Amino acid sequence: MQEATPETSADRLTAIRGRIAAAAKLARRPSENIHLIAVSKTRSAEDIAPLIREGQKLFGENRVQEAASKWPALKERHPGIQLHLIGQLQSNKAEEAVALFDVIHSVDRLSLITALGKAMHKLQRAVPCFIQVNIGAEAQKGGCAVAELPDLLKAAQDAGITVAGLMCIPPADVEAAPFFALLAELSARYALPQLSMGMSDDFETAIMLGATHVRVGTALFGARTGPV
Ligand SMILES: *Cc1c(COP(=O)(O)O)cnc(C)c1O
Repeated sequence: MQEATPETSADRLTAIRGRIAAAAKLARRPSENIHLIAVSKTRSAEDIAPLIREGQKLFGENRVQEAASKWPALKERHPGIQLHLIGQLQSNKAEEAVALFDVIHSVDRLSLITALGKAMHKLQRAVPCFIQVNIGAEAQKGGCAVAELPDLLKAAQDAGITVAGLMCIPPADVEAAPFFALLAELSARYALPQLSMGMSDDFETAIMLGATHVRVGTALFGARTGPV
């Protein structure tokens, strides 16, 4: 268990940064190679502002519509913000996503790669992508099957999309480490530089196993109330 939870989100950010640095040290990795994405889904601009003031630059949202309603104004006011799409993306929203986001973590099928390739070409905007892998082979979960990875990587290359790396959300309520290890192995197999894995409950484990991007919501902002 952790110590008593610090009170403000700025305090929590400092605490999480400390835990990331400690995990990096244990893993003998430079902590500059580990990027904290503050997952701000369901949070208001007022909730987000204190973290921006503390120098947090990377934010994650899971819905295009919600992000479109709050981020353009925030991004204009605070240059240097990098917005990451971490939730499932419908092909018909590809263009809006390419216009709004700086990185997309949830690319998991050929039709979406085609749509994103077209959108990037049309908008003349290159948005690096992660391929999301359904690492626990769960029914009705986003992400491609492990066996589909070579085809998706080839399709992304053909579409002119830069694949930054792989992303996963392991099955809930079981130990995440074996799934993180498998994603790391796949990323090494395909010589991909980055790994988006680890959330509030398991980001330190993910860092041990090679995560370059951890996506943390609850541990920064507190428990979410409404639906996600
Ligand atoms: C909500 C969400 C997170 C953050 O989850 P927490 O448990 O609140 O840290 C990370 N990744 C994805 C894809 C999410 O949708």
